[in-house]
Amino acid sequence: MDALERFKQTILAEYPRLAENDTFRFACRPGVPCFNACCADVNIFLTPYDILRLKNRLGLTSDEFLQKYTLVPIEEHQQYPVILLKMQDNEAKTCHFVTEKGCSVYEDRPWACRYYPLGLASPREGEGGNEEFFFLLHEEVCRGFEEQDEWTVARWREDQGVTPYDEFGRLFKDLTLHSYFRAQKQLDAGRMELFHMACYDLDTFRRFIRESTFLQRFDLEPGQEERIMADDEELLRFGFRWLLFALFGDKTIKVKPSALRG
Ligand code: SF4
Ligand code: SF4
Repeated sequence: MDALERFKQTILAEYPRLAENDTFRFACRPGVPCFNACCADVNIFLTPYDILRLKNRLGLTSDEFLQKYTLVPIEEHQQYPVILLKMQDNEAKTCHFVTEKGCSVYEDRPWACRYYPLGLASPREGEGGNEEFFFLLHEEVCRGFEEQDEWTVARWREDQGVTPYDEFGRLFKDLTLHSYFRAQKQLDAGRMELFHMACYDLDTFRRFIRESTFLQRFDLEPGQEERIMADDEELLRFGFRWLLFALFGDKTIKVKPSALRG
């Protein structure tokens, strides 16, 4: 079991479960005694949509962003690739994006920074229910819980602008909670690469579609080629659907009859 899976099991077994109308007290703003303290030496797993937003914010290609700002941890029983935000190589291990005034990529900050102090758990069947639930994360360094502002879960999520993050989060979970992974299977090296490219390295995925025999093999909807060539969000939605086909054989994308005849 990898570190991420171990943490998930602890949450499922021990953390109190919150619903949309449950309340908590919290505030994070300049002036709290711990301001910026959480933006160092922290493990932040990046979702595909986090990478899309950050690389566009910074004007980088996905490949440049991945090389400069991320790590790819590899564990023995890992089922699919995950991406970690790389911290700076200084004593405090500060995030590359933190400044005295706070987060310099605030409008495009990752899902985990946006949701904190909330987390969202999605149990698989047989893991203590299969309903998603929210929980409170309380980092030791965080004094935001001493503030008196009261939130419901729903109001916090609205305030933090999570809607597009949630949409893409659901699509990502169609992959990561697929029955293939629920059966504890791992991807082989080739399929790990496909997952990595279509989820995390969108500009390479777009080039792969354009320059390989992809468009001769798959039957796209009218106008879809133009949309995925022009729009990263369309490309990511398409990538999730294509991966369900390419990794697990789900009928999410049509193969051209000429490709079937081979
Ligand atoms: S991305 Fe922004 S909010 Fe997240 S750790 Fe870095 S500086 Fe802090
Ligand atoms: S430690 Fe908590 S209150 Fe302090 S800056 Fe980070 S999130 Fe905000």
